[in-house]
Amino acid sequence: MKKPVLKLTIAAAITAGTFSFQAAAVQVEPVYAQQPVNVLDHKIVQHFNVENVYQNIDYLSKEPRIAGTESEEKAVQYIQSQFQSYGYETEIQPFTFLSYTEPESIFLSIEGSDETFTPSAFTYTVSGSITGELAVAGLGKKEELADLNLTGKIALIQRGEISFAEKVLNAAGKGAAGVIIYNNTDGALNGTLGEANDAYVPAVSLTKAEGEALAAKAAAETLTASLTVEGASVDEKTSHNVIAVKKPTNQTKATNDIIVVGAHHDSVPGAPGANDDASGSAMTLELARLFKDIPTDTELRFITFGAEEVGLIGSEYYVDGLPKEEVSRMIANFNLDMVGSRDAGDLVMMTADGEPNLVTELAQASSTRLNGEAIPYLEGGRSDHVPFAEAGVPAALFIHDPAEPWYHTPDDTIDKISKEKLQDVGEIVGTAIYEKARFDNQEIKVKKANKVKVPHLYHNEDIQ
Ligand SMILES: [Zn+2]
Repeated sequence: MKKPVLKLTIAAAITAGTFSFQAAAVQVEPVYAQQPVNVLDHKIVQHFNVENVYQNIDYLSKEPRIAGTESEEKAVQYIQSQFQSYGYETEIQPFTFLSYTEPESIFLSIEGSDETFTPSAFTYTVSGSITGELAVAGLGKKEELADLNLTGKIALIQRGEISFAEKVLNAAGKGAAGVIIYNNTDGALNGTLGEANDAYVPAVSLTKAEGEALAAKAAAETLTASLTVEGASVDEKTSHNVIAVKKPTNQTKATNDIIVVGAHHDSVPGAPGANDDASGSAMTLELARLFKDIPTDTELRFITFGAEEVGLIGSEYYVDGLPKEEVSRMIANFNLDMVGSRDAGDLVMMTADGEPNLVTELAQASSTRLNGEAIPYLEGGRSDHVPFAEAGVPAALFIHDPAEPWYHTPDDTIDKISKEKLQDVGEIVGTAIYEKARFDNQEIKVKKANKVKVPHLYHNEDIQ
């Protein structure tokens, strides 16, 4: 019911970025793009087995893999067993996060009135049942509330200027027992408070028309309102990352570099997530299998992350936990998120700052060698490459643009997966990695990316 803010942002970013990505695609000519398909590419293309990818997507997408649930845990076990069957030692990295359960019911009434309302809950609202005076409280800014006594009252606040969370906290700070925020534009208001906070009081939204009418009435006479939010809760849950590491084949000739290839294995509620992102997880597995016995001078880490859909939590946990020295050795993060939908558009790359980096250059070079065309890149965040980019690691998301209509729906199923698309992504990413990771190729200079600050995980209209 609630809009999936993280993934919608990807879709919006693709649309918004169309112009700049075309410009970028023209501007950047990788220096080594002129090389033809070579025997080395062939080695990867030959060993890549799209049937493995397809079968693993099929296995993983039987049911939704919601972060912190048994079904995600089952996927984790399966992914680990696959890595192990290729000969990897694996690490399962557990982490906890706060999981929000939406309310089952919301009820709002005005004493002495049979008027009905259509309140919506803000994501992260707490549960509670209050009866109290309705207090008109402007935009809910601190200075507006300074002279108001809101103790035990329900604050009626207009949307605008500051975030929903700030409004709720400001009113609660003045003693309000509940908050109603009404829209300042037509249509329903489905917002989020952004994160859990013990200081919240029950908070719901109304339409502009409902809110304005109520505010006018409350200004004329004292109104007593009853507000009930039932069933909302915040629970600590555990999710996991699965990590398989391939050390350089020959330590004496090894580089100090690390390349990370990753995807997220969780999905949103209700969606079996064949494309989002069993496709990337299965692709990560196949690349791990393929590279297991191919000599490389660079360390390769194959990781599937948990809890991406609830805020990039697994990848953030992983990057945050790395020693600085290891982060400084990471030269590339290939993030594979939604790489096989028959009904999505063409392959693109997204970087957090919209700038090229080693990952985009390697993949533009390999796609040019393989297909005669460089994959374009554009600015885009909201997936597991972001924590890497924030730590200064050159990182890019591989995704098809525009997203398929089944995105985050129960129809994101195996029958919409295209083996041709999987094959294309596998070849491009596999040969791009090999270009850098193979022995005797020291020509490619690594330039560390600038640390990128990606300010928030939400659309502005979701939080304010
Ligand atoms: Zn995804």
